[in-house]
Amino acid sequence: ILATTSSSAATSVADGGESPVNVIINLDHGDPTMYENFWKQKGEETTVVTSSWQHISYFSDIKNVCWFLEPGLMSAIKRLHKVVGNAVTEGRHIVVGTGSSQLYQAALYALSPHNASGPMNVVSAAPFYSSYPLMTDYLKSGLHKWAGDANVFNKQESYIELVTSPNNPDGFTRQDVVKGEKGILVHDLAYYWPQYTPILSPADDNIMLFTVSKSTGHAGSRIIALLSLVIIDLLGSNIKQPLIGIKELGVWALVKDREIAKKMTTFIEINTIGVSKDSQIRAAKILQAISDSCDHANQTDAETFFDYSYKLMAQRWKEIREAVNKTELFSLPNFPLETCSFSGRTFGQLPAFAWLKCEGEVDDCESFLRRHKILTRGGKHFGASMKYVRISMLSRDNEFKLLTQRLPAITF
Ligand code: PMP
Repeated sequence: ILATTSSSAATSVADGGESPVNVIINLDHGDPTMYENFWKQKGEETTVVTSSWQHISYFSDIKNVCWFLEPGLMSAIKRLHKVVGNAVTEGRHIVVGTGSSQLYQAALYALSPHNASGPMNVVSAAPFYSSYPLMTDYLKSGLHKWAGDANVFNKQESYIELVTSPNNPDGFTRQDVVKGEKGILVHDLAYYWPQYTPILSPADDNIMLFTVSKSTGHAGSRIIALLSLVIIDLLGSNIKQPLIGIKELGVWALVKDREIAKKMTTFIEINTIGVSKDSQIRAAKILQAISDSCDHANQTDAETFFDYSYKLMAQRWKEIREAVNKTELFSLPNFPLETCSFSGRTFGQLPAFAWLKCEGEVDDCESFLRRHKILTRGGKHFGASMKYVRISMLSRDNEFKLLTQRLPAITF
């Protein structure tokens, strides 16, 4: 992320004073600044004041497997999932991490056999989230290795498949594709929130990752990035097919889910000895405020967070589609309409990223748009064609407006 942030982010629209055509529009990252305005209106309601004597201890709840998880955050996570209806939390362990990157690595650490002859394969169907290969391999671990596009994985070896739904970068709903005997599935549900996609039913997967970065927009807190990691009870009644893979590895054969949660906790213990309490308490306050507003939605005039964010995403998608329709140079994916069990609205996906295709002769869409001072992330980072780029839809209003003005004016 930082490699592509550096100087270009700093010279973006925020500098002001320049003619709009010269301004660099940096939409490479999914930085969720579009939520700032909503939280500004909340003022005191979501302000957290901390005294210097508070949060001194390393420990939060020594009885819990994840001993550094603040009890207030745990209940706020469970409550919000229940209010939205996007994940089952009953009977699951919740492990908190500093950014989902940390929890992602904790999950790989916990799920890869430690006594195997070779590293565990890690796959995801292309186009996949560009950080997965980097996060999997950057420490050159002997435990796991990036094995590429799940669509073409055909080794008779054990593997972890990352299922991102809705998907980053293209926004589509996904399921696992390998369907092998020796697989463990990890569901990254960072975007399974009602401003991005109709919620169809509570997700009930074995291992699910959620992050506040994309749900409430508090990416900078790096808190619970993994809003909740939920692990099904391997010995419970809900045993699912993919877990047979775990058994066959001979590693987790008789191991309860608690052991996986414990291993993940150990990883975080060795890595950062827990997760900032200040951040967790701030996150808890924000999640509770969202749940409160949803619970009282009919009694006050105040707009709920999910109403606000849904309307903003819907408006932005309308505007970007209008902009793209004015030119033959680009196209965007289309999504089927479905009814959201949370809001009752019928709509198609409103992804956090636009997966834009350069039609016609342009082969390298990222370089092409860069020449027009629009910074995006090209398809090759996602294991896909360079005719595609990923554009963030979560920027501040002024940056988004410049994008929709500039796109239709581009000529080959
Ligand atoms: N998973 C997916 C699919 C993402 O798009 C992102 C953010 N870009 C993350 C995880 C990580 O979010 P964070 O580390 O900010 O929690």
